[in-house]
Amino acid sequence: MKEKLKLFFTDYGLFRCPYSKDRDDENRRYKIMLHTTTTVAVVSAMMCLLNIITGKSGLMMATFFFAVFNAVFALVLKLKNGIGVHSYIIFIAGVMVLFGNFLITGGTEGFSPIWIIILPTAAYMAVGLKMGMFYSLMVLLEIIFFLYIPAGKQLLQYSYSDSFTMRFPLVYFASCAIGFFIEANREFIYGYTNILKNRYAYAMNFDVLTGLHNRTWFNSYVEKIESSAVTGQKIGVLIIDIDSFKSINDTYGHLVGDEVLKQTAMVLRKNSPSDVTRWGGEEFITITDGLSKEELSEYAEKIRLAVSELNVNGVSGQLTVSIGLHVVEWEKSGSVTELIRVADMNLNEAKRNGKNRVFSN
Ligand code: GH3
Ligand code: MG
Ligand code: MG
Repeated sequence: MKEKLKLFFTDYGLFRCPYSKDRDDENRRYKIMLHTTTTVAVVSAMMCLLNIITGKSGLMMATFFFAVFNAVFALVLKLKNGIGVHSYIIFIAGVMVLFGNFLITGGTEGFSPIWIIILPTAAYMAVGLKMGMFYSLMVLLEIIFFLYIPAGKQLLQYSYSDSFTMRFPLVYFASCAIGFFIEANREFIYGYTNILKNRYAYAMNFDVLTGLHNRTWFNSYVEKIESSAVTGQKIGVLIIDIDSFKSINDTYGHLVGDEVLKQTAMVLRKNSPSDVTRWGGEEFITITDGLSKEELSEYAEKIRLAVSELNVNGVSGQLTVSIGLHVVEWEKSGSVTELIRVADMNLNEAKRNGKNRVFSN
């Protein structure tokens, strides 16, 4: 029942909006963050090497520290096996220090700040929409500070051309927009796929009309019982069939017939000792574990009485069920199919004996 409610609510998005994260998505983010920091550590180490070869000592230091920073960060992520909010903050702080260095020194002939353009797209992919927006904004503020605010401009050691100063933020903005749309689209598709997955899981396991389990679920449940039952364990089957249901349909119409099925299902759910399956049109089945024939007969009798007291859209007095039941002590070579066969014969016996009764041999 809990499983069904969970599927229902997630199906209609009542508890979870399609954009919200779940465990799978967080795990994916963790892996991307781990791969990103590892890649950045390797790229920074290569840049460090290039800076040593080309004799750029300032850049060499910056890229060396950034390579170490990312390598340590990746190692911590790996050891902790997850990302916390503080990791996000530490990471952007490290990135901003490097970018600050690039902007102040200009790196190689003003080229290094171009690396900054990669950030928004990579950030949206690695840390999602909200955190990606935060990262992009922080770096945008840093760009504005160094290129437009006098206090920042004073710190610059490289003299950027007017064209660069004017155009660079626009290219950065384009990267922000592209990153945002790609990630928003991915999150939408991810959320929608989740809804479809839940709908599929619901349809695979439950009957739409009554909300009881369906035949597909029942078949896998039978397999589970057969593989887990131990010798001597009491396994029982209860088959419930609505009496003269065809004449209810014929007299009151199929919609009333549907309502009868729904209300009968409610009675079964309330009174049955275990999960009930809608086995066929107006037939229901349940498998019990650990109940004796006497105990199961008591449940069956309770169900029979409760259904006979139903009043559905004016159909009363003639709403009854017949029930066949069978209980065995499980044997190694036992089969649930055989149990069902006997319970079904008992149901036929209940019908032959005048309906509205329970029969077991
Ligand atoms: P008995 O007492 O021997 O069980 O007779 P019965 O009339 O209940 O059984 P029968 O097998 O003759 O008829 C079952 C009917 O159930 C026929 C079918 O139209 C109806 N039925 C099956 N599924 C549905 C459903 O989803 N909704 C409605 N309204 N009727 C259904
Ligand atoms: Mg029937
Ligand atoms: Mg019937």
